[in-house]
Amino acid sequence: MFGSAHAIFHSTWFVVARDVLVAALVVVWLGLAYRTYRDARRRIDDGWLVGTSTLLGLVPVVGPLVYLLFRPPETLEEAHARRVEVRALEARLTERRPHCPVCRSPVEAAYVVCPVCTTQLKHPCVACKAPLEPLWQACPYCATPVGAAVADLEAALTAEATALTAARKPRKRAAGRANAG
Ligand SMILES: [Zn+2]
Ligand SMILES: [Zn+2]
Repeated sequence: MFGSAHAIFHSTWFVVARDVLVAALVVVWLGLAYRTYRDARRRIDDGWLVGTSTLLGLVPVVGPLVYLLFRPPETLEEAHARRVEVRALEARLTERRPHCPVCRSPVEAAYVVCPVCTTQLKHPCVACKAPLEPLWQACPYCATPVGAAVADLEAALTAEATALTAARKPRKRAAGRANAG
């Protein structure tokens, strides 16, 4: 009697243990597949690829491991944040460094001509040769009125127009020297 009771208990224990183990394995299997799906949603912007990743995640043990090897390194959120950061950085850099309007090479605020393509960027003051902004009516460094050189300016504009229509650099450079002097 004791022996048969022991046998029943033993077999029940065995069945329960087996069922619990199978249930745990199923939970782990579905959990991993679900985690793969969630992770793919966070990292992949393509519905078909997310579906494929989820199917791969349903392959027991090997599927999620293979997914881990090939998943995109950053989440969509991280990628977006990085893009925004890079764009902001670029905007700040271009804001701080003025460019030549013709050849786009970086120039300094004090440049009168672009050193690369010799485009006239600013007109120098007739008295002290300081670079003047187009809207300024007087030189802020030596107080010489810009209007004092109107005749000169007209000559400079004609010279620049000829230089722009002219073929290449040598004549342009000559025009620039004429403007400065
Ligand atoms: Zn230039
Ligand atoms: Zn001046």
